[in-house]
Amino acid sequence: MMILERRHPMRRTSEATHEGEPLTRFVETSIVFPYKRSLGPVIGAFMTGLTERRILGIRSGDQVIVPPLEWDPQTGAELDADGMVEVGPAGTVESWTWVPVPSEQHPLDHPFAFAFVRLDGASTPLMHAVDVAGPAALTVGTRVAPRWRGTRVGHIGDIVAFVPGEEAEVEGTDAGPADEPVKMMDYNASITYRNPVPMVADRVREASRDQRILGQRCPVCARVYAGGRGYCPIDAVELTEEHDVDLPHTGTITNFTIITPVQYPGQTETEPFARVFVLLDGTDVILQYQPVIELPVSEVRVGKRVAAAWAPPDDDFDEAGTMGGAFGALIGWIPTGEADIDDPDLVNRIF
Ligand SMILES: [Zn+2]
Repeated sequence: MMILERRHPMRRTSEATHEGEPLTRFVETSIVFPYKRSLGPVIGAFMTGLTERRILGIRSGDQVIVPPLEWDPQTGAELDADGMVEVGPAGTVESWTWVPVPSEQHPLDHPFAFAFVRLDGASTPLMHAVDVAGPAALTVGTRVAPRWRGTRVGHIGDIVAFVPGEEAEVEGTDAGPADEPVKMMDYNASITYRNPVPMVADRVREASRDQRILGQRCPVCARVYAGGRGYCPIDAVELTEEHDVDLPHTGTITNFTIITPVQYPGQTETEPFARVFVLLDGTDVILQYQPVIELPVSEVRVGKRVAAAWAPPDDDFDEAGTMGGAFGALIGWIPTGEADIDDPDLVNRIF
């Protein structure tokens, strides 16, 4: 079983500078995918063993495979979970590589070695970190033993690292083995995006503090844009502050989506909610994926008349938000109470 889940992205901002001058503002967005994996009888037993400060391998003919596998890697034959045996805890470094600058994903926050360690009684090497002062302290043939974490959860990280010597050690107070067999494993995969923020996006967000919806009018074709990247895509003309225009605060829903939230970690929505496209009055501007306020999902429809709703003046809105949805102090759209617009072409207006 594998469950794919997604959290709301964490966001932080940074600035790229050129000779001390801000060039472009960037928004860094990380999306973390927490995975939950069932371990099965062999890996589960291995992980449970780690909480007991025991390292288990599995017999395959006259070999002992560490870490254990469910199938023989040579023949594909299923291996018997009853054939699991304890190895180590000490072993011999068979090969290694030095990591001079660890990243945040590495197991140690200071320089260390990744090594193949063949534990006593094992036929295959286990890859793990070896914590020594420098590369001069390590050779092929160095004897090492595990430094166990005091609190172990059934994860390969229960071994902090291997250290020179024959005796295993425990970091801090030993909290003892897990209460129950380890059957599941959690881990996070993450990806980080770094996107430039168009200057117009910052200007639009600032204007929203004064309850203004800013657009830009192209001086060549007179098209009006909102939420763009600061140029007219038809004429390739840059749109700057001098092209800013105030857009109306009322409009008509042309399209909508009802989202039924899936409950993954970090999901704050529990009930179905709407995102609507709003055609602003007297313009060709469509604001996409806008939230609605005081408008039940069952009453969202094409042709509905809505008006901008604003956050209180001192509200500390999301500074970094740039991707879709409402922006800055514009928090959504609220019904005006006017009669619907009956126009079959509205539904075709998506941008
Ligand atoms: Zn234009």
